[in-house]
Order: sequence, then C-alpha cells, then structure tokens
Amino acid sequence: MSLFPPAACPRLVVKIGSALLVDAQGGVRRAFLEEVAADIAARAREGQQVAVVSSGAIALGARRLGLAKGGRASLEDAQAAAATGQIALAGVWAEVLAAQGLTAAQMLVTLGDLEERRRYLNAAATLGRLLQLGVVPVINENDSVATEEIRFGDNDRLAARIAQAAGASGVVLLSDIDGLYDRNPALPGATHIARVERIDGTIERMADRGSASGMGSGGMVSKIAAARIANAAGAGLAIASGHVAHPLSATVRHTLFVAERTAPARKAWLAGGLTARGAIHVDEGAARALADGRSLLAAGATRIDGHFARGDLVTVEAPDRTLARGLSEYDSVDAVRLLGRRSDEHEAILGYAPRSALIHRNHMALL
Ligand code: GLU
Repeated sequence: MSLFPPAACPRLVVKIGSALLVDAQGGVRRAFLEEVAADIAARAREGQQVAVVSSGAIALGARRLGLAKGGRASLEDAQAAAATGQIALAGVWAEVLAAQGLTAAQMLVTLGDLEERRRYLNAAATLGRLLQLGVVPVINENDSVATEEIRFGDNDRLAARIAQAAGASGVVLLSDIDGLYDRNPALPGATHIARVERIDGTIERMADRGSASGMGSGGMVSKIAAARIANAAGAGLAIASGHVAHPLSATVRHTLFVAERTAPARKAWLAGGLTARGAIHVDEGAARALADGRSLLAAGATRIDGHFARGDLVTVEAPDRTLARGLSEYDSVDAVRLLGRRSDEHEAILGYAPRSALIHRNHMALL
C-alpha cells in the first residue's frame, strides 16, 4: 500500500528535495517530475487534495548562472539563484501537472507568513481555497527576498508548517534517502528505522548534520525538526526515497513518524503560550455544529467579549461552558458587526470580501 492513502488522509503535503529535481548538468529531472505528477493525479482522482513543497530553485538557478558552491557562497548569490531557478521550476511544474489534467498554483512564502498569526491565517485561507478548488499548490520559500534571520532555510520545516496550515494529516518528504538510520547510513551496520512513535534524544542523535547531496540545505536534522512540527499538529510524516519509480504510488521503504493524537496536539498548539484576547458566545445550534467538526459561522454567534485583532486567540463560549479555543478570522469590531448574520450578508455589512467563518475549523481546538 502506498503512503498516506487517500481514504485515510484527505489532505497530503509532498515535499521534493533539490537533489531529486536537478540533475548534474543543471537541468530539471523532468521524467521524475512527470512520474510524481502522475502519482498526484492518481491520488486526486481518489479524492485526495495534494500540495507540493518544491525545493530546487537555488540549485537550478546556480547551475544556470554558473555560481560557485551551488549558489550558496553568499546570501546575494542564493537570492539571485533562487529568483532565476524559481521561474523555471514553476514552469516545469505547471507543465507536468497540466499534462495530467491538473492546474498548478504557485505560492512563495516566508517564515513570517507562517509564524505571525494574522499572516498565517491569510496563507492558510489561500492554501485551503486552492485545495478545495482542486488546484495543486506548488510552494517554496520566497528565497529571493527572505534574509538569513527571517528564513526557514530548509523546505522540510516549511512543508510541516504548510501541513499545519492546510490541516493536512500526512506529509511525505521525498529525498535521496529512504528514511532514518540508527547511525550515518554510510557506516557498516547502520539499521533502517521503519517507525518512530516518539521523537526523543535517542532519535535526534541518530541524525547526521548536513545535506547528503550538498544541493539542498535539508539533511536529517531538519527532517526530524519537521517531523516534530507535523506530529504536534496532528499530521504523520514519512521520509521516503524519490529514487524509485512512482514514489507516491509504489510501496516504498520509509520512516514513518507517527502523529500525536490530533485533538490534544492541536489544543497544545493553540494553548501554547497564547492567552485568549476575547470570547465569542454562541447558541446551541453553533455548539452542535462545532461538535460535528465544523467551522464557527457568524450566524450562530450571539455576543463578543474583549478587544482582539484578526489572528488573536479567542475562546468560544456556550451559555454554560467553554467549547473551544481558536484563532479569530476577524477583529472584535468586525466580529460584532457580523453577529447573528448569515454569510451571504457579510460582504454588504463589511464592505470587503468576507472570510468563510468567524473561526475556521482548522484553527480551532474543541475542549
Ligand atoms: N528553498 C530552497 C530552494 O528552492 C531549498 C531549501 C532546501 O534545500 O530545503 O532551493
């Protein structure tokens, strides 16, 4: 059985490492991408929504520009290489997906876009809408503007954050290695680890620093950091090799980092260091909808307490109990204006295109 089958994983994030995307001559490994696109199309036909996090911009651009050290000799080189490589990379993705009848969409994000809550909601909403529309988002870090202090630097953690933002339940990191080994896999006696239930010090010590291929900036350390983020957000993460035919359809050897149980993990994330800035009181109908896993709509809200900004944490209150915590899609002033109003009235009330909910279910933890 393939990794994260559609029936068990409605949304999947697939990250493709630089070494799989770019060949020794600096060309795109198109045949490989065609296979991956065919695998994505097969999954889409079974109802899975797939987002791609694609590396390779720096490696590709550096080869085209003839830059030393794979374009990583200086920040300016990396940024110029990324700008040059990204446009080519996006073009190839659009072509190989189109050949499978799929539409590609490009999203370039920075660390701040995913760490700062207001911007996080913006990126998450765009991503969610693209996936709903059946489009395949092809995502990379916006390397041509991100500077050292504000960069992810590796697409492994970026993929895990994207999974969190998209409410995905699985992440596949395709790279040139088929998973985690108990020591450097080049050493004799190295043993493959198939499944990791908990990431502890023993697991972390197994990771070797540095990228094996020298093309990306990943390596096992950033893959384990990514697994931590994904698992805490309720998504499983698999590290698998892209050096097999149809890596997303075949049964491939991999290491699976098992997700923490979704609800507690989400709660921990929403609770983590954040204090609620306000409360949204709701009626019984809304309380039932939340219990069914739906988003909180303004129609079911009866009162707003506190002053909060978009992206702030608020609680959701029934008359007799606290139901949930979540990130508000509106500031408190606009939330008050929407109280009890149906979604089709929102645009006229606000004077701008409304969000789909007061709190989206992906950004809410039931208590
Ligand atoms: N964003 C980088 C690129 O497109 C790759 C980062 C990584 O190697 O993980 O080249």
